[in-house]
Amino acid sequence: MLFNSRINWSRLVIYNFLFLLAAFAVTRLSFEVKRYDEMRKKEFRLARTDKLTSLANRHYFDQKIREEVAYADAWNSVINILMFDLDNFKGYNDSYGHASGDKLLKLFSDIIKQCIRKTDIPVRYGGEEFLIMIRDMDIIIAKSVGERIRRQLEKQCIRLGNKFGRQMVTVSCGIAQYPVHSTNIKDVIEMADRALYHAKEIGRNIVVCYDEIGMTREELERKQGLG
Ligand code: GH3
Ligand code: MG
Ligand code: MG
Repeated sequence: MLFNSRINWSRLVIYNFLFLLAAFAVTRLSFEVKRYDEMRKKEFRLARTDKLTSLANRHYFDQKIREEVAYADAWNSVINILMFDLDNFKGYNDSYGHASGDKLLKLFSDIIKQCIRKTDIPVRYGGEEFLIMIRDMDIIIAKSVGERIRRQLEKQCIRLGNKFGRQMVTVSCGIAQYPVHSTNIKDVIEMADRALYHAKEIGRNIVVCYDEIGMTREELERKQGLG
């Protein structure tokens, strides 16, 4: 009897020890799985984010646009592409240095974030080029979003150094809409780019829709009630 109870005690101790060991292993394993999952999520976030502005990068945009087109086709809706390019930005870099140029890029991306909805997708498309994907919105309203962003930067009155005279850093914008202007999204992006080019040609610091290419600055400003 005494012998039996001694065996039970030692078994109990061993079982307890094994149980604690297993509990420790399970806790440790779940901790490692969670850590690995968080690391992967972080890596994924970093891979799709522009470091300087924390907007989405071009790589993410190229993937996301396919989903957006599928959504637009399924729901018979539209995607507006707003393409921005900072005006005279090379002059700003030359006047104040690359680090100040970077600060300006950051400031502009903050302006964009403040002027859009949560569902819109802002992208740093290139060096000083930005793109916003806006779905389910009339092009006239999309243009007013572009106009609000343009005005917000204009309000900052950021000027170049003396050798560039009275020039200011402003932004130009071109807009096109899927599938109204083309049923090929690549063409729509190209069309927004062409509208942006027209904005540059007519003196910069203006928003132009694809249908407005060919209009003079005066005509556009009158149309928008700016003239
Ligand atoms: P435009 O009005 O015709 O667009 O003139 P611009 O001077 O803005 O255009 P240009 O293409 O001549 O110059 C673009 C400049 O943007 C040149 C390049 O050094 C600068 N840039 C591109 N990426 C970055 C960046 O990440 N940081 C900084 N500071 N500058 C950049
Ligand atoms: Mg450019
Ligand atoms: Mg530029």
